[in-house]
Order: sequence, then structure tokens, then C-alpha cells
Amino acid sequence: MRKSNFQMSTFKMFSLWLLVVPAGMVYLYLNYRPVEVNWIYLLIFLLFTIVTLNFPISLNGKPLFLAMWITIPAFLLYGLFVETLLMQIAITTMLVKVSKDNTTRPYRFFMNSLILFILSVAAASVFSFVGGEVGSVEFGPIILAVFCYQLTHSFLMDFILRFYKNISGTKSSYLSKKIVFSKLAGFGILPFSLTVYFLLQFIGIGSFLLLGVPFFFVTLILRLYNNSEHFNSSLKNAGEIGHELSNKMTEKEVIDQFVVDVTKMLGNEYTFLFDYKDGWLELVRAYEYHRFEDVQFSPMLAGQGLAGTILKNNKPIIYPNRQEWESLSVGYTPDDMQSVICLPITRNQKVEAVLLVSSVKKNAFKDYQLMILDILCSYFAVSIEKARYVQETVKKSERCALTKLYNYRYMEERLEYEVREMNSGNTESLSVLMLDIDHFKKINDTYGHESGNDILFNLARVLEEALPNDATVARYGGEEFIYLLPGMTKIEAIQFAEKLRIKIRNTEFIIAQGLGEIPNLENVTITVSIGVSSAPEDTDDAKSLLRNADRSLYLWAKQAGRDRVASYVK
Ligand code: GH3
Ligand code: MG
Ligand code: MG
Repeated sequence: MRKSNFQMSTFKMFSLWLLVVPAGMVYLYLNYRPVEVNWIYLLIFLLFTIVTLNFPISLNGKPLFLAMWITIPAFLLYGLFVETLLMQIAITTMLVKVSKDNTTRPYRFFMNSLILFILSVAAASVFSFVGGEVGSVEFGPIILAVFCYQLTHSFLMDFILRFYKNISGTKSSYLSKKIVFSKLAGFGILPFSLTVYFLLQFIGIGSFLLLGVPFFFVTLILRLYNNSEHFNSSLKNAGEIGHELSNKMTEKEVIDQFVVDVTKMLGNEYTFLFDYKDGWLELVRAYEYHRFEDVQFSPMLAGQGLAGTILKNNKPIIYPNRQEWESLSVGYTPDDMQSVICLPITRNQKVEAVLLVSSVKKNAFKDYQLMILDILCSYFAVSIEKARYVQETVKKSERCALTKLYNYRYMEERLEYEVREMNSGNTESLSVLMLDIDHFKKINDTYGHESGNDILFNLARVLEEALPNDATVARYGGEEFIYLLPGMTKIEAIQFAEKLRIKIRNTEFIIAQGLGEIPNLENVTITVSIGVSSAPEDTDDAKSLLRNADRSLYLWAKQAGRDRVASYVK
């Protein structure tokens, strides 16, 4: 939809351009071509115009085109035809430089070419209207005429941009800010343009050197200054990102935040993060055009593919365009990927991951961005390690060290949650089983405490194996265990408990006896007693559920002779 719309306006723009520019150029050639030109001057004018347009100074991130400094002298010396010709050739070189980056380029070219043509003609008309004369060296009249020339140029440009903004619906703030800047700069550069012109008239070719050198020197300094400004603000940004990453508690949160922040900072389209473990690189996150995508990507060995090559060389790299890396890539690589930065993420001198960012533009990444990314990657590596540690600690605090089952604390919280779920209608029933090994003291006395521990550990595995979906099993204390069975009615829970009791009764627990080098292995069997309580049949309160299960276990199952299941009766 958007595409066809765009195609049509390109066509319209092209038609308009075709009507005005080529015919206009012919007309100007016939009427305003200079009688005599110095070809060396012309060549230098062209060269300077091209360089100025292709390397604009940028202020607050917006490019400032100051080609006036050289096109006005060209106009004053050789007239309208030469000036428009210079401009048109120079903007064509801009088109060639970036043509493959963006499909809207042809449209923009025709638009820019057309606007600049109109501006040149209008400004030159006003120039001669106020008495300006090409080639004149009369100081006063020339200054006045050049001022009017610039005034026309500047305000007509403003008018055209406003008009364009209205018909295309572009946001105004960007344009108007840019207009203010370029207006100020346009008038500020006038004395310089006039100086170039007068010097050319009086001292000739040397003036290109005298004034060209300072102009390009200042441009260069400003570019360097801008780069360092960018570097500083990116560095500050990186610090904030690092802080944010270190506040994330889980690995997944750290990874997602990192991928999003990197993309935001670089303004690129593709960000891929690979995990490196046991010799294999695996894609863990893909972020494309500001969205996480599930990308199928077979794991790669070090040395394979683009990320694998970077891993093997263990050196970050910037590729300016697709040709540079295409032969290395294997598997998933979107067609519009151009510039690439790829770097290994290391922690304690060990590669842990590889980051690959890509832009659909060529030459999109600067060296300083690689440095910033490198810093971000260290923040990332530290944050991941911290998140892993936190996750591990949380996991440990929920588990019992001997049986590896959930502990009492976790079970209590989970029980509260399950009761809430039931009371809010998400589950219809909730049963609780309390299970205690019969005569466990005797086992300890006969086989020793160590063997008792082994039995507890192995019983925990049996209990886990019997665990239904969504249910929880925990060690309540000593040799007592709890099952939380959401969705199970009392009858189902009694049946489940009965099956479990039989299963445990029929399980042989192997324990090692004796202190010799080859211990005796012995088979031990145990029995368990189980108490059952259910909600909503017995109660709808968490504490009562536990108390009821405990009472049924001790008052009825144990009292009645053990190795049995008893359910709560009011
Ligand atoms: P019953 O439950 O059938 O009444 O008899 P019992 O012998 O199992 O008695 P009770 O439940 O009161 O005693 C629990 C025993 O379990 C006490 C203790 O020796 C043993 N025990 C508790 N925790 C552990 C443990 O972590 N490891 C070992 N080896 N034994 C434990
Ligand atoms: Mg017991
Ligand atoms: Mg007990």
C-alpha cells in the first residue's frame, strides 16, 4: 500500500522535474552562459562544491549545507548557468554516494534538484532586479544584491519546505529547527563568499588556497568536535544503560534489556545475541526492526559463520557493507543487512557470548561506537553473572539441601497462592496430602543416620516421579512430606494417595552397609502413612488445610496401625 503510494509520487516528482530542470538548463545555457571561462577555476569550483555538499558540518545532529560559500562566488563570476550546473552536478554525486541505502533516494534527488533549480533562478532574478551585475566589482551594489540574493534563497526555501510539509504531513519541529539553523548559517557565510569573489577578482587562483584551506580546516575541526561530542554523550548513555542492566534480576531480563538498549543507541535494524557454551554458538535473542523475533538458527561451531569467525579470532570488527562479510555468513541472514559490528563478549578472559548488530545502511557504524559497545558488553557480562547468582540464590533458598525438594518456606507461600487461586475461582478444588514415614527411627537405628538420609533422598525422587501436572511436592520437615494438588477433589486425592502408598511400599531402597572398600548393598522397604484434606470440602483456609491433613495423618492413619491413607472428617 505504502509502496504504491510512494511509487506514484516518485513518478509525479520525476515528471515535474523533467518538465522544469532539463528544459530550464537548456534555456539558461542559451541565455546565461558565460562568454569566457577559466576552466581551472571551474574545475576547482566544482570540486569544492562537491566536497562541501558531501561533507556537511553537523550541528545538534543536523547537517548544515554551506555550499553557498563557493556557489555564490561562482555565480558572481560566471552567472546563473554555471551556478546551477555546479549545484546539479554536486547533488548528483550525493545521490551516487548513498543511492543503495534507501529506496526514497530517487524521489529526494528529483525533489532537491527541482527545488535548488527554482531557488537559483529566483535568487538570481532578484539579484539582477536590485541592480546586481555578474562580474561587477562595485562594492556597495554587489553587497546589496548578494544580500537580496541570499534573502530570496533563504525565504523561498522556507516557503517551499513549509508547503511541502503541508502536503506531505511531515512533522514541523524538525524542519523549522533546521530552517532556523540554515538561515543563520546562510547569512553568516555571506561575507566569506564575497571575500572569495573579490579575492578571485584581484589576486586570482591563489584565493582558492587562501580561503579554501581555512574553510575546510574549520569543517574538519567541527567534524572531529562533533564526533567527540557524540562519543561523550554515548559514553554517558552507556553508563546509564549499565546501571539499568545491573538492576535486572533474571538472565532473560538482562538479555532483553541489553538487546533493546544497544539497538536504541545505535539506531540499527538487526541485533543478534549468541550464547557460547561447550564449543557451540547458539542464537539466544533476535531483535529486528524493534521487535523480538523467533528465529530458527542451527548452532554453530567456533570458526563457522560470521559470529563464529569473530569468536575464533576473538577480535571485534566493523564491516562497512555486505560484500565484506557475505562470504563468511551461513544460515539466517536477512537480505537487507549491510553494515555489521560483531564482537565477542568476554568475562574473566573467557568468551561467553557474541553480539552482532547490523544496519541496512552502508558505512553506518563509526569506530567510537565499537568502543562504546565494548563497554556495554562488559556491563552486560557482569549483569548476567549477577542475575545468574541471584537466580541461583533464590533457587537455593527455596529448596531443601538434602532431598532437593522445595522446603517448608516455599511450600507455605505456594499453599497461600493455591488457596487464593481456588477462592478466586481459577481452580475448583485443592487437596493437601501430608505423608510421614512409618517407624523411621528404627531405620536410623538399624542402618545408621547416613543410610536414613539416602532413603530420604531416594524417596524424594519417587515422590517427584508421581507428581501430577501443576502440583507441588515439598519436604515439610524430618521425614514428613507435603503434596499440594490443585484441581483435585477429595476423592481423587484419596485415590492418588492410595496409589502412592502402594508404590512406596513396593519400592526397594538400596543402601550401602559396612565401612570396607566394597560395601554390602542392602534392599530396604518402607511404608508411609498419609493424611488428606481438601478444599472446599473441609475448609477454604490454608492453615486449616494443613492442620486437617496433619490431624488425619496422626489421629487416624497412624493410630489405626500405619501404612494407610486417612482423610479428614469433621
Ligand atoms: P512414626 O512416624 O511411625 O510414629 O515413627 P517414627 O519413628 O517415624 O517417628 P517420628 O516420625 O516421630 O520420628 C521421626 C524420626 O525421623 C526422628 C529422626 O530420627 C528421623 N529423622 C528426622 N529427620 C531426619 C533426617 O534428616 N535424616 C535422618 N536420617 N533421619 C531423620
Ligand atoms: Mg515417622
Ligand atoms: Mg515424623
